[in-house]
Amino acid sequence: MKQYRVIYDRKGCIGAAACVAGHDARWVLVDDGKADLKGAQLNKEGLFELIIDENELPKMMDAAQLCPVLVIHIDEVETGKRLI
Ligand code: SF4
Repeated sequence: MKQYRVIYDRKGCIGAAACVAGHDARWVLVDDGKADLKGAQLNKEGLFELIIDENELPKMMDAAQLCPVLVIHIDEVETGKRLI
């Protein structure tokens, strides 16, 4: 099954909650007014990362496409190709 890396730049989040509307199993608005990506780990660059499989891809693509400030990116793990 194909895997995808979700990369989330939380610093740029403006709390619009569109991601929550797109994929509420993974995205939640928290007390500081920004979104958390459930299950994600902070990487060395200060970005949150989460590996998902292709079953979850459509909903995560919805979340990424709906984000008005485009702080959610998705790469194919195998090829490194950026989908959004
Ligand atoms: S849609 Fe984008 S700006 Fe809005 S809460 Fe989600 S990550 Fe933050």
